[in-house]
Amino acid sequence: MARNWIKGEWRDGASALLESINPADGSTVGSYHPGSRALADEAAWVAHQAFVEGTWAASPRQRSAALFEFADRLEAARNEIADLIVAENGKLRTEALGETMGAISEARYYGGLARNIRGTMQELSPGQMSLFAREAAGVAAIIVPWNAPVTLLVRSLGPAMAAGCTCVVKPALQTPLVNARIMECLADCPSVPAGVVNSVNEAGSEVGEALVASDNVHVISFTGSSRTGQKIMEGASKTLKRVGLELGGKAPGVVFDDADLDQAVRELSAGSLNMAGQICVAAARFLVHETIAPEFERRMVNAYESVKVGPGASPDSQMGSLIDMPNRERLMRLIEQAGDEGEIVLKGRALEHGAFLTPTLFRINDVNSALVQEELFGPIVSLETFADEAEAVAKANATSYGLAASVFTRDVSRAMRVSRAIRAGTVWINSHLRLAAEAETGGYGKSGLGRLHGPEGLYDFLETKHIHLEPGTL
Ligand code: NAD
Repeated sequence: MARNWIKGEWRDGASALLESINPADGSTVGSYHPGSRALADEAAWVAHQAFVEGTWAASPRQRSAALFEFADRLEAARNEIADLIVAENGKLRTEALGETMGAISEARYYGGLARNIRGTMQELSPGQMSLFAREAAGVAAIIVPWNAPVTLLVRSLGPAMAAGCTCVVKPALQTPLVNARIMECLADCPSVPAGVVNSVNEAGSEVGEALVASDNVHVISFTGSSRTGQKIMEGASKTLKRVGLELGGKAPGVVFDDADLDQAVRELSAGSLNMAGQICVAAARFLVHETIAPEFERRMVNAYESVKVGPGASPDSQMGSLIDMPNRERLMRLIEQAGDEGEIVLKGRALEHGAFLTPTLFRINDVNSALVQEELFGPIVSLETFADEAEAVAKANATSYGLAASVFTRDVSRAMRVSRAIRAGTVWINSHLRLAAEAETGGYGKSGLGRLHGPEGLYDFLETKHIHLEPGTL
């Protein structure tokens, strides 16, 4: 049973309980109390009171201790958390545990950084001082999607807490139980005062919209689709909130003719099918030099055909389920479209039970097709070719997204040149999908604004204050 967590208390919602469904078999994982506009407003007010009345924002050592306590509790509960992720989301148990361990690493990373937030000082003329202080921006609303409900939450919550913000969390409606388990870990941390972190469940979009509109919220840290990101930016403009947006992607994997093909296929098959392709940085387009495209295609089909699709909880499975049946139906329609607009090389099929879909690979030459331009968010990947480096870069940059990309070549100079020319927040060389708490991620273009992870992950949650000291006046 997942409740809302406000001012250190577990609270029921005003409306009837809702169920969280396991996408692998349609069973009920558990029930949750949906939030409401009223609870969202109350949580934002509570967080604001905690910010202005408490000492949280001025206590970096306490915040550091809180994040280390949080990490320890997440670690102690890691197996239970991973099982809940598998049940609500459908991904593989190894992916779920990996995600949980990533979140623990993130909490410890920001636990360290919390004690290292410094200002600067500049002498403008003799005795005339400018001090530049970094201060917490206020209340942060953290709105996260279902595809990595623990990592993506802690990726924002870690820097927000380290910076001294107080927070209201809004989980995705598909993953309320795993979110409540994370909140239980926080509730158990002696260094986290009541009201510093609050969480309100969602039934539709009412809670998210209320947080975006609230006068008591100063920063929105949003991870989700570009379409929702646009709505959030528009909504936030009324109160001129700061917005950090981690949005959709359409990552190309660019394979040159001198690449180690075994490595390219291994990295790109795993990088495209991780979480059944439901990850923002998944390899969604294979851009391959025309001379090696037939061989690349043959090897990728072999790799895709050998993937065992099945329940995330089963140790034999190599790819888990989609998030739900409507998404499976949506993707099956896209497969038909891929057959019309391109040429299907390997056609994905639905398994008899559950939201399972095997991988699809299709050739296409039209970069203007919606299949190339839009995020499909599933195990469906396009295969496109290029004749030279200039065409590879042009095609890699041909969508309005710019979240991530990978480049496969043995030529170091080319690897660096192409990495700089691709307009994306992350470029992996001879690999795909390497994420670390230390390394900033974020998007160009329609993939978002701002950065999370790394020291820059703090920036969304900090204001810079200039304090001027005039000589001889004290
Ligand atoms: P979504 O945009 O539908 O929902 C994300 C969150 O926003 C959910 O909590 C949802 O309830 C909430 N929401 C929906 N409408 C809202 C509104 N009007 N106001 C406020 N909140 C609202 O995305 P999704 O389907 O849950 O997740 C998949 C998307 O997330 C994909 O596009 C994926 O690329 C993106 N994503 C991006 C990153 C990244 O780091 N850039 C990471 C993971 C996922």
